[in-house]
Amino acid sequence: MSNKQASFHQSVERNFDKAANLLDLPKGLLDQIKAPNAIYQMRYPVKIGNSYQVIEAYRVQHSHHRLPTKGGIRFSHLVNQDEVVALASLMTYKCALVDVPFGGAKGGVKVSPRAYTPEQLERITRRYTVELVRKNFIGPGTDVPAPDYGTGSREMAWILDTYQQLNVGEIDAIACVTGKPVNQNGINGRTEATGRGVFYGLKEALSYADDAKAMGLEPGIEGKTMVIQGLGNVGYYTGIISQEEGGAKVVGVSEIEGTIVNPNGIDIKKLFKYRKDKGTIIGFPGTKKLEVREDWVGIECDILVPAALESQIHKKNAKQVKAKIIAEAANGPVTADAEEILLKKGVVILPDMYLNAGGVTVSYFEWLKNLSHMRFGRMEKRFNASQFTKLVNLVERSTGKSVSSRERTFLTRGGDEIDLVRSGLEETMITAYGQIREIYKRRRKVEDLRTAAFINAINKVASDYTSLGVFP
Ligand code: GLU
Repeated sequence: MSNKQASFHQSVERNFDKAANLLDLPKGLLDQIKAPNAIYQMRYPVKIGNSYQVIEAYRVQHSHHRLPTKGGIRFSHLVNQDEVVALASLMTYKCALVDVPFGGAKGGVKVSPRAYTPEQLERITRRYTVELVRKNFIGPGTDVPAPDYGTGSREMAWILDTYQQLNVGEIDAIACVTGKPVNQNGINGRTEATGRGVFYGLKEALSYADDAKAMGLEPGIEGKTMVIQGLGNVGYYTGIISQEEGGAKVVGVSEIEGTIVNPNGIDIKKLFKYRKDKGTIIGFPGTKKLEVREDWVGIECDILVPAALESQIHKKNAKQVKAKIIAEAANGPVTADAEEILLKKGVVILPDMYLNAGGVTVSYFEWLKNLSHMRFGRMEKRFNASQFTKLVNLVERSTGKSVSSRERTFLTRGGDEIDLVRSGLEETMITAYGQIREIYKRRRKVEDLRTAAFINAINKVASDYTSLGVFP
């Protein structure tokens, strides 16, 4: 381990190589899978106040083995090419792992959203979209952006509108971007999707009694203590859903303004409202502020959830970790150097490409909904409801007992879009975990879940290339 910190992209490549070395695939094929296929770096002017500002932005399509390519757009003053390439490559592996039939991509605009008014952000976003259209870097069949750090459904609506203005009459134009507002061709359940996926993934990982025991934990998510870094979209929904549906206890939260703890639990919904009103999490009733914000890493807990940016747990602070599980809700929150230290300590890392795949999974559902021009559940909801009603009637007749009206409503309901989206997401997370776990348990040299996830993803991309006839 050298003293220099590896870049984010180098860190991802190191993880890739660790898995690739265990596979019997030709070097040329592995090189092709690893290489970013297209990098578009742009500089464009936007009028801010009385002057023009040159905006630095990127879109990287990491892999064209499947089209469209897919991945979010990040707005942050930290954006740089290395970061966007790393994130785009993670999207390729993530999509392969959860059987979402896209290549990986990512966009980045080097701006701090908080430094601009909504009107200025709209201009920045629309102009970015025009740049993408100009180079054919956006479209339902070519490259489909989505939200990421610093962006949300509002930005996606601007992207869609700009794209539609430039592609009048294109019947599938609404599928050019996902994560749109529900009333603008979005899908129910997309906003919560990444956090909900993190919850399903954790629940699944903790459902195996032997695995939980090996981590020194009881099976199940109920009662587990959790610390969350970042109360953005992903951290927020991970916290709420883990608390409300899983019975987990959030004992620490870290944000830009500091880190707070309460061993008795922090209500995430109330904390979020408090922060909205006061502009800070500090001072939230019942909590204590840590002197050093960065010490969130070392808070005593079962599950540590980095849900902000990459490289947050690195070789200098990895030793502080006391958690049994690191749940990578963010992309790349643990550097490859830190991972070596953590694995030696016996910490289990649920890797980003698996754990935060809920976002892109539901994006895939949204894209399918847009291409079919019909909401999920429209065809089957009433039919299912009437079949269930017949079944309940039959049970009542043959047993001579009747169900309560509440039970009847519950049992005879047909699935709405949100039910189907959640069910599809849960199925995806369970299936993918089963595949990773199987590789981890079965292959002798696979020491960790990230390597198992990489092996699975690499094999799937490799078989795509082979079936395309690119490699014999
Ligand atoms: N930005 C999210 C991610 O990193 C979602 C991407 C998408 O929905 O395309 O996975």
